[in-house]
Amino acid sequence: MKTKKNILVLVISIFIVNTSIFAQGKFDIEKTKAKYASRDYVYEKLPKEGFNYYKIAENAYFVHDNFEHMVFFVTDNGVVVVDPVPGVSPYTLKLIPQITDKPITHVIYSHHHADHAQGAYLYPKSAILIGNEEMTEFLKAAEDPKRPLPDVTWKDEYVLETGGLRLEFKDLGRNWHSQKDIIMYAPQQKILFAIDMFHPDAAPWIHWGESSDPDFAFQLPRYLLDNYNFEFVVIGHERIIGTRFHMEQYEAQIKDMKKIVFEVAMSPEYHKLLEEITQRYHGSAAHYEYKEKIMTAAELGASKYIMNWAGKVRNVRINAVENIQTMFMHMIVLDPPIKEMQKMKGNVITH
Ligand SMILES: [Zn+2]
Repeated sequence: MKTKKNILVLVISIFIVNTSIFAQGKFDIEKTKAKYASRDYVYEKLPKEGFNYYKIAENAYFVHDNFEHMVFFVTDNGVVVVDPVPGVSPYTLKLIPQITDKPITHVIYSHHHADHAQGAYLYPKSAILIGNEEMTEFLKAAEDPKRPLPDVTWKDEYVLETGGLRLEFKDLGRNWHSQKDIIMYAPQQKILFAIDMFHPDAAPWIHWGESSDPDFAFQLPRYLLDNYNFEFVVIGHERIIGTRFHMEQYEAQIKDMKKIVFEVAMSPEYHKLLEEITQRYHGSAAHYEYKEKIMTAAELGASKYIMNWAGKVRNVRINAVENIQTMFMHMIVLDPPIKEMQKMKGNVITH
């Protein structure tokens, strides 16, 4: 009887030790991935407050509503806010005092678009607002009081070191989404910021995320996977956090779409349809002829992409035509792979 009691005490004390470790908030990357980088979390009901948050490192908090997110770090000096998303910033401002009594020391712009930058005006004036120099030109042109000009601007590369946090900034020289995109990296936390780059566990957003340079957008995943040692990637949309796996999955979709557009361009099926289109217009309506030729390729390619990816990622059907169309225009029409094309019978389509 006594032994049983002792065992019970032992079990209870082990439980207490375990929970106290948990209460200290030992950050567990794998647990976080299992719960918050999962498809299930996309469809979980949001708390009635309209937002939720979770840790993506010991001192990094991921705040999200239904479809947008942003991150803040708690440092020894105060709080560093990254990407002042207007929809989420009011929640972030409510949450920060519940987590720390330290002041907000820095707010960092990712790019100038309204849906990411228009929360900036909500933060205390004492916080240092940081933005890329070229991006600042777009803010100046916008003259938007909700997107104030940065206090500190930087060019090419920049490092912010504050209260034990290190954040590395880089302008890659080419953009994937806006007219001035930047990469941010927190090496201690292994968190990468590549805002509006892709959607974890989903097909690409329409026109490759309204891309200003789709050719670079296609190269970006490989560059980031090769050059940054990250566990999580923050992209600004979705309530799930992106991981290396998600970026690899996005790259796999790009590779598959490339294969598909080449296959379509070289297929007898497409060539037959091209002949028919050419005969119909007799060169009399170039705009219509071009549109119909690329739409035909896009529809043929989209159906292949949907078949290959349905169920593997979310939203495969919704933007498949537009994304294949954009890729086809860039990779087959505008910048054709000459060697591959020589193997084909004549030109596919000219602009
Ligand atoms: Zn944007």
